[in-house]
Amino acid sequence: MQTKDITTQVKVCSLDELTNEDRRLVEKAKEMTSHSYAPYSKFHVGAAILMANGEIVGGANQENAAFSSGTCGERSACFYASARWPGVAFRKIAIAAWTRLHKPDSLPDSLCFQGKPISPCGACRQALLEYEVLHGPIEVILYGAEEVYILPSVASLLPLCFTEF
Ligand SMILES: [Zn+2]
Repeated sequence: MQTKDITTQVKVCSLDELTNEDRRLVEKAKEMTSHSYAPYSKFHVGAAILMANGEIVGGANQENAAFSSGTCGERSACFYASARWPGVAFRKIAIAAWTRLHKPDSLPDSLCFQGKPISPCGACRQALLEYEVLHGPIEVILYGAEEVYILPSVASLLPLCFTEF
């Protein structure tokens, strides 16, 4: 028997240290949080995908009283992007989120962003991975008000991922 280590390299930086292109993508993800419909979780997630054709596609979580009918911000963005431009690769995705839980009502939405980078759920990782396997690496930019994480690919967020499709 042997043990294998699985490691993930994450670049950690501030918003100011991002390239203009990456900062623009993060700003779009932040903007998309205002398109969220989150009356149940009160957790507003926005995502923005930079496509290989230069277009930026946004998405936001959409909840529903029939809970399993809703979807996350990341899948909202990637399904819309694929439906809008079928077959076009995704180059990067940025994700941002805020919530008012445990915060004073007087605080504006723009100051309620999560301090630590927000990370996609397992289902979104798998959904994004499929586009990555089809079209090449998708850089992942996880926004937090205190710091930003940059990962080179979706697979780096999903070790031992399912790729038998
Ligand atoms: Zn998700």
